[in-house]
Amino acid sequence: MVSTWSNWSGAVVCRPESIVFPRTEDELSAVVRQAGEDGQTVRVVGTGHSSTGIVGTDQVLVSLDRMSGLVSADRETHRARLLAGTKIRAAGAVLLEQGLAMENMGDIDVQAIAGAVGTGTHGTGRTLGNIPSRVTDIRMVNGAGELVDCGADPELLRAARVSIGALGIFTEIELQCLPAYRLHERTWVEPFAGTMENLDARIAENRSYEFFWMPANDKTYHKVLNITTEASMAGNSKSAIGSEGERIGWSPQIIPSVRENKFHEMEYAIPAEAGPECFARVRERFLAKHAASVQWPVEYRTVAADDAMLSPHGGRASVTISLHQAAHLPYREFFEDIQPIFWEYGGRSHWGKFNTMDRAQLSAVYPEWDAFGAIRERMDPGGRFLSPYLASLFV
Ligand SMILES: Cc1cc2nc3c(=O)[nH]c(=O)nc-3n(C[C@H](O)[C@H](O)[C@H](O)COP(=O)(O)OP(=O)(O)OC[C@H]3O[C@@H](n4cnc5c(N)ncnc54)[C@H](O)[C@@H]3O)c2cc1C
Repeated sequence: MVSTWSNWSGAVVCRPESIVFPRTEDELSAVVRQAGEDGQTVRVVGTGHSSTGIVGTDQVLVSLDRMSGLVSADRETHRARLLAGTKIRAAGAVLLEQGLAMENMGDIDVQAIAGAVGTGTHGTGRTLGNIPSRVTDIRMVNGAGELVDCGADPELLRAARVSIGALGIFTEIELQCLPAYRLHERTWVEPFAGTMENLDARIAENRSYEFFWMPANDKTYHKVLNITTEASMAGNSKSAIGSEGERIGWSPQIIPSVRENKFHEMEYAIPAEAGPECFARVRERFLAKHAASVQWPVEYRTVAADDAMLSPHGGRASVTISLHQAAHLPYREFFEDIQPIFWEYGGRSHWGKFNTMDRAQLSAVYPEWDAFGAIRERMDPGGRFLSPYLASLFV
């Protein structure tokens, strides 16, 4: 039965022939095999927080909402295995019960762990890699419906970490965690002038630092997080950009925000050293052409280099610059006007956020594009996971 699916922002809408919720690996394998017999493609969705074509399909859509929870946790190695459909908030809670925590998290905690891993989701911090950079093993169902453990094959794991569901459907993910830790958060607002002068010091001196430039008043909202052994201290919620104060709590309670207002987003990762110049050019064009129509802030974060083949932060310490627009307002013209600035700096788009990069552009900024393509061909020779969008990238 055809039903309508749409992503979080409403920008992507599709009508899958079926949406299936397997409970076990065997059921999932059967879904993929059946699709093969029927000549259908299969896409897998986490919580639909991406807004590119990486989920949408008019054929079979799989959700792992029923494959969720902790598989195992090792307090010696600090490694934990999660079922791939586990939501990050639930992961944070079960890990805490085991005395563990993810090294870093993104801005929200509602995504499925597999969705966050698959797109290279990241937080901020000069020494902190994206979420997939802490993945030590992945178990998945490949295009033939077979179970594959990636951990034994380092090249396969480097491909799988950021693979937008193109190699297979993850069933379990093993994460290198840290012993549970508390964070001290401090947030404040200041005039934009001074933000860039203090940038390097703030990035260097804090575990996590980010700022949001608010075009409406030309001020910046700053957030720093540092590990502390001090007792928890409640503060006002820091979800709202612009609220000032401090608080202390366990990392999964402090890092994520709640984003109640829906928005469109474009984000590019560029080499860290190009960050300030690129941001200055984005701000200049924003003020010259878009200040009247866009009130939403521009976010500036840092991410450590990793070695996943299709990681936007692969092989280079990165700065990410994100632009936002309210979900009910036009956004394409704004994003498409700013986007070429990022391309001049070798920018790599976030896999789950608006961009118009095609295969030629992507292969030019990912040195291991062809190596990934060869592994994709091996894992899914029949093209079971190739929706038209993925086919436009990989075949
Ligand atoms: C409000 C908001 C805040 C955000 N904040 C951040 C942030 O701070 N940092 C950041 O980097 N990004 C951020 N994002 C982007 C978001 O983290 C990514 O788009 C992420 O992929 C969404 O996870 P999801 O579970 O919704 O995955 P989906 O969007 O549903 O899927 C993403 C990709 O993962 C694949 N996938 C899902 N499940 C599986 C599986 N079991 N096996 C294999 N592949 C799978 C899908 O096929 C798809 O290719 C934000 C997005 C929103 C809307």
